[in-house]
Amino acid sequence: MTIRPVCVKCKVEFVVAKNEVGVIEKSADGAEQAIWEADLLQCPGCGAQILAGFGSAAIMQSWSPRRYQTNVSYFREQGALYEYAHR
Ligand SMILES: [Zn+2]
Repeated sequence: MTIRPVCVKCKVEFVVAKNEVGVIEKSADGAEQAIWEADLLQCPGCGAQILAGFGSAAIMQSWSPRRYQTNVSYFREQGALYEYAHR
């Protein structure tokens, strides 16, 4: 399956704004669970951004605090740290 996100409003495909960003996964109550690597895509029309292209497994689970924080710090220093929460 090929993921080709399209902006409904602008009728164009999203393009990669930044590869290999860090994404913190949070539970519905806001607790950090894991950090993933993904791509930041952007609509060239309206500038809407989405996170897609997640790896098949998280980089690190939050139950390994030191290594987890090392990853979070790395992406934060790159200006490439994002997050999402389960509903
Ligand atoms: Zn758009």
